[in-house]
Amino acid sequence: MNQDTLRIGIGHDTHRLKPGGPLRIGGIDIEHSHSLEGHSDADVLLHAVTDAILGAAALGDIGELFPDTDPQNKMKDSGEMLKAAFAKVTSAGFQINNLDCIIFAQKPKMSPVKRKIANRIAEILEINPEQVGVKAKTGEGVGTVGLHEVIMAECIVLLSKTV
Ligand SMILES: [Zn+2]
Repeated sequence: MNQDTLRIGIGHDTHRLKPGGPLRIGGIDIEHSHSLEGHSDADVLLHAVTDAILGAAALGDIGELFPDTDPQNKMKDSGEMLKAAFAKVTSAGFQINNLDCIIFAQKPKMSPVKRKIANRIAEILEINPEQVGVKAKTGEGVGTVGLHEVIMAECIVLLSKTV
């Protein structure tokens, strides 16, 4: 297998919490006392996924594609950003093998919505929900995650070259 056949990518993101819900994570809105702060819709998980697939294809990062200095990106739907990144990756000849994600949030409980999030990511990326892993961790009550100051997300993805 030559080195261009399989490509791994990683993405990480952090957004601050602010009072007032709902909380948008992984393309869905979750009822919560807080939401995430950011220039776009601040979907921390979709940003990590976007960076992971761009990184695997060595096509830059989300900040290059959608600068936060561009007023057009204000309140932008991160699902649209991920779709645009996916289109770039696809036209470079890659397809997604699988991806695995972790959400780091003290609250709310993510277990009831993990399946819904995986389904939404699969829908955006035109893959099967079985190709999307979604896990959640708390911050054990310490640090910025544990004190409910931020939510972080990480994603790792494996791409393969189709052409
Ligand atoms: Zn972000």
